[in-house]
Amino acid sequence: MGSARVASWWLAGLLAVLLAGLSGYAVSGSRRQADIVAELADDSADTDAYQEAASLINWEMALIQASLREPDGEERTQLFAVYERTQHAMEHMAAVDGEHRTLASGLVQAHRSMRPDIVAYLRSIDLGDLGTAEATLEDVIEPATTSIMTLVLAEREHHLADHAAKQAAGQHESRQVLWRNALAFALSLVVLVLFAWAARAHRRQVEATAATDPLTGLPNRNGFTARTRQALTAAASHRRRPDHGRRGRVTVLVVNLDGFRDVNDQLGHRIGDLLLTHVGRRLRDSVREHDFVARLGGDEFAVLLHDADPDIGEAVATRLTDAFDEPFVIDDLTVDLEISIGAATAGPGEDVPAVLRHADSAMNHAKQQRLGFRRFTGGDTGDDSTARLTLLGDLRRALDSGTGITLHYQPKFAIGTGALAGVEALARWQHPAKGPISPGQFIPVLEATTLIHRFTHLVLTQALTQARAWLDAGHRIPVAVNLSTRSLLDTTFPQRLAALLHQTGVPGDQLCIEVTEHSIMSDPNTAIETLKHIRALGVKTSIDDYGTGYSSMTYLRLLPLDELKIDQSFVKDMGTDLSSRALVASTTELGHTLGLTVVAEGIEDAATLAVLREMGCDLAQGFHLARPMPADEITRGLQQHAVTLGNG
Ligand code: C2E
Ligand code: MG
Ligand code: MG
Repeated sequence: MGSARVASWWLAGLLAVLLAGLSGYAVSGSRRQADIVAELADDSADTDAYQEAASLINWEMALIQASLREPDGEERTQLFAVYERTQHAMEHMAAVDGEHRTLASGLVQAHRSMRPDIVAYLRSIDLGDLGTAEATLEDVIEPATTSIMTLVLAEREHHLADHAAKQAAGQHESRQVLWRNALAFALSLVVLVLFAWAARAHRRQVEATAATDPLTGLPNRNGFTARTRQALTAAASHRRRPDHGRRGRVTVLVVNLDGFRDVNDQLGHRIGDLLLTHVGRRLRDSVREHDFVARLGGDEFAVLLHDADPDIGEAVATRLTDAFDEPFVIDDLTVDLEISIGAATAGPGEDVPAVLRHADSAMNHAKQQRLGFRRFTGGDTGDDSTARLTLLGDLRRALDSGTGITLHYQPKFAIGTGALAGVEALARWQHPAKGPISPGQFIPVLEATTLIHRFTHLVLTQALTQARAWLDAGHRIPVAVNLSTRSLLDTTFPQRLAALLHQTGVPGDQLCIEVTEHSIMSDPNTAIETLKHIRALGVKTSIDDYGTGYSSMTYLRLLPLDELKIDQSFVKDMGTDLSSRALVASTTELGHTLGLTVVAEGIEDAATLAVLREMGCDLAQGFHLARPMPADEITRGLQQHAVTLGNG
């Protein structure tokens, strides 16, 4: 493809040069033609002038001869007027004839010198000396007139012939110009087509590069997403047919290498890279021709299967696992690798991120529980998906009408001073029939669709409007808002956030965006980019549920963060579980080393708070201090100066 592209560019360049040459030639031809037309017009003017002179000379001669026959006739009276017109016509003839100007001037002179002879001739007639008059006519006037006339006619013929020749040349030239223009036009079309072809080839190559992982040569996450999206669209149209059965559905396997980080750390990146290349090849060789294998990033691969049969998914997973029984041999090093596989089948209405997330969470379970393989069962049974679709419909209506979804705010306190340090906005949905539904239930449903973006927008608008209202009432209470994975990975999000801040007039530092460790780790590069843009707006960033994901020290250092929230599961267990206590202590220290504010959430008793105070944890949040509550309760508390640590 590359060399073909280069060849096509060359050819197009060559044709362009040819085209330029032909166009130049055509332009010069057109100019030449214009010249010929001008010359033709000149010639025709010359011929006309000679013709007029010849006619007048004839007339003048006739009048001279008539004067002899009838001395008293009226011809005699016209004679000099005609003589003057003839003289005039001949002068005009001499003036227009650019070619034989000397000859024409000689003729004018000759005609003028005839005048004394004509006068003498007429005087002889008046004197009755007709003999002398006749002699003058025959010997002087007639020969002079004949010689003038002969030359005038010869010149007229000459100009006529010239005119005809030029006309023929002009016609010839015209035809040539026409052909040349037609050729130039045809060539321009060819050049245009070639340019379009070369541009398309170039675009395709760029697209292919963008969708390929350079290390393994497999499709990358972009390529995989695009192909899965296609498969989902095809499956959706297939499902509309009555006989669809299990075909026309899509299953995704996410494959993760166990212990790859150790290989990288101990054997170096070169071996790590080679190993990934071998892994890619082995995976590719272990699936059927029409199954699609991609490298999602790091040590994570994915396989796309075009069916939903659990047996096929499991059979493929077994085959992949078996393929890793044999060790990899790289540069005389033998490396044993195991894999964890998660499978998810796309439910109705689910999109690529949702399926990938499900497969990913199944893979994580498989890894944690050392199962090797696990299928995602959270949403792929018929009943479940019906319930989800109903819930989704209700959510859509709630978002459309803007009713039912509200925010509660849970205070965060500075452990050292007891002062209110901010609040976290937590979404509440009052279902018209089912009553309150917790965010843990409805947010995952929203996250599987693009509705999540509208939800994020609604929550941010409400939270920022509230923050503005508090500022107007003289309270500086930073508000924290939870951001879903999809909004975090949506590269246009920071732009929309900037618009909302502007619209509500809230300074960036009065807002904190909380993102879970899981969200970040699902696509760390994109997450880092978005977080950077969010911070550029002055907005604070926080990593939520810290400790439940798999983020390494390295990532934590790279992340543009201001705050670290230790997951409540560790905080809650601190009283009874020593390892939880150790983890909270070391995380607090780690957070401080990285210059982050450390928050403990889920504090349910005074003892836990006391231990956290001892550890030097900065902020505290939990039912023991204050439950999530409507905004006006917070406002009331502030007015009564009641919102401080321990008064919640
Ligand atoms: P989170 O961000 O970790 O929020 C803290 C959750 O812990 C809240 O649950 C809160 O009510 C609860 N909590 C606070 N203190 C205690 C305590 O002492 N003990 C116990 N057992 N729980 C406590 P909630 O409101 O049910 O929210 C659950 C999760 O839903 C949140 O976890 C957050 O991840 C998500 N969420 C809530 N609102 C939103 C939102 O607007 N957008 C997004 N994307 N996610 C949200
Ligand atoms: Mg949170
Ligand atoms: Mg949390």
